[in-house]
Amino acid sequence: LTERLESAFKNLKGEARINDLNIANTLKDIRRALIDADVNYKIAKEFTDKVKEKATGSKVINAISPGQLMVKIVQDELTELMGGEEAQFNITGNPAIILIAGLQGSGKTTFSGKLANYLKTKKGKSPLLVAADIYRPAAIDQLMVLGEQIGVDVYSERENKDAVAIAQNAIKEAKSKNKNVIIIDTAGRLAVDEVMMTEVANIKDAVKPQEILFVVDSMTGQDAVNTAKAFNERLDFSGVVLTKLDGDTRGGAALSIKYTVEKPIKFVSSGEKLDTLDVFYPDRMAQRILGMGDITSLVEKAQSQFDEEQAKKLEKKIRKNQFDFQDFLEQLQQIKKMGNLKDLMGMIPGMGKAIKDVDISDDAFKGVEAMISSMTPYERANPDSITPSRRQRIAKGCGKEMADVNAFMKQFDQMRQMMKMMNKMPMGKMPGMRR
Ligand code: GDP
Ligand code: MG
Repeated sequence: LTERLESAFKNLKGEARINDLNIANTLKDIRRALIDADVNYKIAKEFTDKVKEKATGSKVINAISPGQLMVKIVQDELTELMGGEEAQFNITGNPAIILIAGLQGSGKTTFSGKLANYLKTKKGKSPLLVAADIYRPAAIDQLMVLGEQIGVDVYSERENKDAVAIAQNAIKEAKSKNKNVIIIDTAGRLAVDEVMMTEVANIKDAVKPQEILFVVDSMTGQDAVNTAKAFNERLDFSGVVLTKLDGDTRGGAALSIKYTVEKPIKFVSSGEKLDTLDVFYPDRMAQRILGMGDITSLVEKAQSQFDEEQAKKLEKKIRKNQFDFQDFLEQLQQIKKMGNLKDLMGMIPGMGKAIKDVDISDDAFKGVEAMISSMTPYERANPDSITPSRRQRIAKGCGKEMADVNAFMKQFDQMRQMMKMMNKMPMGKMPGMRR
């Protein structure tokens, strides 16, 4: 516990930069995390190598370790890679045509229902669902049931075995019924197959969709990449829908697919209920894929709150044995600015559970803060000037007992003794200092 906290909070003497040595273990961890999340091995390696190269030489600010900074940089890169420019969803055109493609069982029909419901309730559109799965009569029934649930019309032709014709007829139907978006749910196969690809490609050529969404089951892991590649080569789709994220998959497929086909992930699906269509949040996905706790927030907080200049000044004061009550108060406030102490510790991977029931309250600081607040600026800057009569006044001023003030004075004195001792030691032997 202390060790981890130590590396999270200190590095007061920090002049560290990211180099091969101080992040070797972290890099290994990151790579393992990616592979565990089903990211293709080659992609995981390529990606981390690239990020490492970019990060080497980055200056590590106080309060975090080079490894933590590296995790943050990786997480940022991952977010950037998956998010990049804001993904647009094009529903202009009358009717706007959206083609849904993917393997059987990937979640196309469920997603079609979700999308229709979303466009109807959130975008004020009037959608028409089209059943273009001509092989399984049950597929038509499934879409009809979904349509009924959300109050959206479904177009189907049970006797017609020409998916292209059905799609074209559906457009006519949409026009005559004033539907402004049509969602074409196509047939899938269990594996990539020429007949399926040709059929979808033919529909694409015939109806010229504004959007072609490739639906992929996030639980299929590494296979997802090959499937995405095959579909993209034939269809040049406009976006990816990642489904079944409510499962326990870490979602590495999101990274692999984005890396391989360079198409935006436009939606995610996490459940069979039709009333939620989830927007894709690259930052959350990055975090999920890495599965390394909320290091990013910890690092960000440390970065934003710890002022490097101030740390240098403080270091100088400690060196010269001039650390006083004002410095102490400022340090306390810094820690408090970083958030609730318990929350802060909870962000360290593995710590959250361990401290769930432990009472770490910020109140512990309150008494100390009150006492320092009752000191005059002169007293704060000159701890040795605080005579018993001054202590009496301080105790009265903050509503504490004289004994509390005495105890605090003693603690503070011990702290200063420690600092003195540390200053006498050669750098390498300092307790708690790496390097
Ligand atoms: P299609 O063959 O591509 O049309 O896939 P379906 O939409 O019929 O979905 C296949 C199965 O996966 C069905 O049992 C769905 O209920 C289920 N399913 C679809 N999307 C999700 C999802 O986001 N989460 C979960 N848990 N199940 C899903
Ligand atoms: Mg289906």
